[in-house]
Amino acid sequence: MPPDDLQRATALREAARLVEEFAPTTDVRHIRDRTDILRRLGLIAANLERRDTASICRRCHAVFHYRAAWYEQRALSIPRHCDICRAIRKQERGRAGFASNPALESPDVSHR
Ligand SMILES: [Zn+2]
Repeated sequence: MPPDDLQRATALREAARLVEEFAPTTDVRHIRDRTDILRRLGLIAANLERRDTASICRRCHAVFHYRAAWYEQRALSIPRHCDICRAIRKQERGRAGFASNPALESPDVSHR
């Protein structure tokens, strides 16, 4: 795949990280917008990375794609949830007060 695309995907993931870190979550509308932005950035980045492996989300049973080599290179377990459910689960954990504990992050949610 062209290196330009990977660089763009990395830039988008970095942008998503900044949105996650700095976007306000005090209002339900902000949370919705934030989730939407993260979803869109994730989808565009994933498209640029040309994910090659399909799987079924354990939560919503939608087909999602990921780049198997990325996980293999980092010796991570393969993702079990689609990008949308991943974002929702992360938010749920955040509301439950677990977000600040990195030990509770499963490996498939921490790829940026
Ligand atoms: Zn899902």
